[in-house]
Amino acid sequence: MNKFFIRFSALSENESFARTVISGFLLPLNPSVNQLNDVKTAVSEAVTNCVVHAYPEGFSGDIELSSWYDENEIHIIVKDYGIGISNVKLALEPFYTTKTSDERSGMGFTVMGSFMDELKVDSKPNQGVIVHMIKRIALVKE
Ligand code: ATP
Ligand code: MG
Repeated sequence: MNKFFIRFSALSENESFARTVISGFLLPLNPSVNQLNDVKTAVSEAVTNCVVHAYPEGFSGDIELSSWYDENEIHIIVKDYGIGISNVKLALEPFYTTKTSDERSGMGFTVMGSFMDELKVDSKPNQGVIVHMIKRIALVKE
């Protein structure tokens, strides 16, 4: 088993930082380019959500990114301590967004769900959001 945990500021400049961290962490598993892109995209969407939605304008907050893998099963958790989501089921619907003013399309969770094998979202209002994603990759024999 291998794992890591990091905590960083919910700033848009940290979106590429998170993508770089997760791809570096998974490199020893020899993922295919497609598999790695799927995971990077999913992590990107989850981290972007924390940056865009979690903390009200003018407030700063943190994002926690952790991951572990065992055999071929990769777990990724993206967590914030922001405003949370009151209706998770609704938020997971394609095209559902509360930010119609920006260029948001409401497809972030749909992308995470289709690029990963499992997606679980837990939240209570004002307690933040926990996104737990699982990706299984076939092991490549050397
Ligand atoms: P897109 O991801 O396509 O740019 P979006 O972020 O609005 O648009 P989703 O990522 O699917 O779409 O998220 C749906 C909705 O869930 C958001 O509009 C927001 O209301 C809520 N949401 C998502 N992540 C969080 C979060 N970390 N904290 C608070 N609310 C969130
Ligand atoms: Mg989003």
